[in-house]
Amino acid sequence: MLGYEAQYENDRSDVDLLSLAKQGSLVLLTSDEELYRTATFRGVESFLVQGRTEAERLAAVAERYKLRLDIDTRESRCPKCGFTLREAAKQDVEKSVPVATFKVYNSFWVCTNPNCAKVYWQGSHWKKIEQTLRAAKKLLDLKSNAQNG
Ligand SMILES: [Zn+2]
Repeated sequence: MLGYEAQYENDRSDVDLLSLAKQGSLVLLTSDEELYRTATFRGVESFLVQGRTEAERLAAVAERYKLRLDIDTRESRCPKCGFTLREAAKQDVEKSVPVATFKVYNSFWVCTNPNCAKVYWQGSHWKKIEQTLRAAKKLLDLKSNAQNG
């Protein structure tokens, strides 16, 4: 949603994850200390994600990689396939969204990947993501205030 290219894998072996990261020149984000150490040892850039909450973990990654934690829908990527999104006219998504959703929302975004074409709107899931982003930003502010005295 933030516009950063990301791949989420939770059912791959460590060996697979390491080779995926290496081949794609990707940064391996993991909370598995052993995998983190193996990655570092093998020259795969890796970051050990720690924190009790989603916001804490997100703040840690954002701090390490200087990530912007604001959603700019012009830069958002489809969470499902990674393609960019484009804003869609309301009438164009009528057949693709639930009736109640169509009634309540006026702004919609569509994945530009024709094989995906998933439609997004700022519903409860979106609001939950924004809550997590706000909490993460607050943690980063507190931290930088503490560091600057
Ligand atoms: Zn997509």
